[in-house]
Amino acid sequence: MAEQFSAATYFMVILFIYVSHLMSTLGKPKSWINFLPPNLQTLHLANKLRDDPVAIKLASTDFGNIVREIPAAVLYPSSINDIECLIKFAHTTSSAPFNIAARGQGHSVRGQAMARNGVVVDMTSLKNQKNGYGIKVSGSPSMGWFADVGGEQLWVDVLHATLEHGLTPVSWTDYLYLTVGGTLSNAGISGQTFRYGPQISNVYEMDVITGLGDFVTCSREKNMELFFAVLGGLGQFGIIVRARIALETAPKRVKWVRMLYNDFSEFTRDQERLISNNGLKQNNALDYLEGLLLLNQGPPDNWRSSFFPLSDHAKIISLVTKYGIVYCLEIAKFYDDHTLISMEEELQVLFEGLNFIPGYAFEKDVSYVDFLNRVRSGELKLQSQGLWDVPHPWSNLFVPKSRISDFNSGVFKDIVLKRNITTGPVLVYPMNRSKWDDRMSAVIPEEDVFYAIGFLHSSGFNDREALDAQNKDILKFCYDSGIEVKQYLPNYKTMEEWKNLHFGTIKWRTFEDRKNQFDPKMILSPGQRIFTKVKLAKII
Ligand code: FAD
Repeated sequence: MAEQFSAATYFMVILFIYVSHLMSTLGKPKSWINFLPPNLQTLHLANKLRDDPVAIKLASTDFGNIVREIPAAVLYPSSINDIECLIKFAHTTSSAPFNIAARGQGHSVRGQAMARNGVVVDMTSLKNQKNGYGIKVSGSPSMGWFADVGGEQLWVDVLHATLEHGLTPVSWTDYLYLTVGGTLSNAGISGQTFRYGPQISNVYEMDVITGLGDFVTCSREKNMELFFAVLGGLGQFGIIVRARIALETAPKRVKWVRMLYNDFSEFTRDQERLISNNGLKQNNALDYLEGLLLLNQGPPDNWRSSFFPLSDHAKIISLVTKYGIVYCLEIAKFYDDHTLISMEEELQVLFEGLNFIPGYAFEKDVSYVDFLNRVRSGELKLQSQGLWDVPHPWSNLFVPKSRISDFNSGVFKDIVLKRNITTGPVLVYPMNRSKWDDRMSAVIPEEDVFYAIGFLHSSGFNDREALDAQNKDILKFCYDSGIEVKQYLPNYKTMEEWKNLHFGTIKWRTFEDRKNQFDPKMILSPGQRIFTKVKLAKII
């Protein structure tokens, strides 16, 4: 009897809990309704919007681990139409439009893909559900080979898919787990840029959903204003849902060489000489050129790539100890079975007259995929040690060639070396302005040759301030000394700074006109803090 009673009671209690949970779920308004228009619920999208802690946490953090902006909800689109529908709703139906930010991988470092109280569109959802464009390789007599690629796709997947056809894109980033839409919204630079231009120079066509909610196909010939606006456009004009990327025949292997210098002017003279051979079909041109500082940070390798033979570490470390800073020139030449001999002859010619320290040239021979994906193993190692998801107070600058020597003495020698707090790689490599297109939104210095400088710092959660201060002091030194630097992956706090320090009057006018044309209600990518008057983001 007692047993029967308890079973019935148990059943009743379970039923009560279930019904009350159901009622509370049904009756409870979604918390995003506090911020977004309630009639958004009438759209079919409502059940693709999530505001649970998992979704909100992901969309309110990024690789930088510095800024946190809480969105009202995250859209997990299952088709491009969902994105179109959301933006159109925000633009037309709503009297108080809310912000929308596409999020690729959230590899930004200052909250650029976040949207406070708005909607973050998780682009990877299109990839997972395979309802986006995917990656399709085709060719035409006028364009040659190309790949039509969803904006949500990762470059590493583009690499593997195109290699199946013996083809490859020509312009890369150092790290391949970035989205096509995310890098095209900035520029996409690496050691190929001096010759092939940034990734934005290698796009034939795009499908974009503008801030008006319109689906527009654009290219140099068709809707060119939107095409140029979006490339390097920091997500301000539309969401890229497809890009047509130029392809070439893929090489198989890579001769990868690093040479060390203690004299900065010899180092930059050699870099500049090597990038002056930059014709697309020119045989004696390199395929990749970068450079980095070796500082007294322990082993000469870092997470960005493991390169130096272990047996040479002691010799390199003692060189760094002697000079404080050693400059490392990094080059690569791609080849396959047919071009092996000519590649070696061409490298030989290129090396003649280079002024690196005798005995300090190191080379490796690796597969094309291993070369392009060289940062991944470092990432996995850091992840396994819990050191990947730490704050990253990065600063990336473009410095005009005419002032690079002043930058070396004022920044590398006077700030970086003296403070001795720099953690992580510091990149230094030149590129040619002629490979960029000034009609695009990306901003670069005026000179024919300029340097990309990347301070790729990591820090602990409590000791970021010194690196932030160093980044600030470097910018201040440049402004005070009249060095016209431009930030890459820029981060400014006011519209005045964007206008005066970044774009300059003429380019700003174009940028602003395009914003008024393609996103007049200032809906898109508020995390860039260009048009939206958001209060300073919460700093973690
Ligand atoms: P997100 O950070 O998600 O987004 C960046 C911006 O673009 C946001 O404003 C977002 O709203 C917008 N956006 C995202 N998707 C779209 C879309 N489909 N349409 C329109 N707007 C969109 N950059 C280089 O150029 N070269 C490098 O070698 C390089 N190496 C890197 C290495 C590492 C380890 C990391 C973390 C970053 C590196 N980056 C490099 C920077 C990288 O290019 C940026 O982080 C870029 O934003 C791409 O990241 P993402 O795809 O995660 O974009």
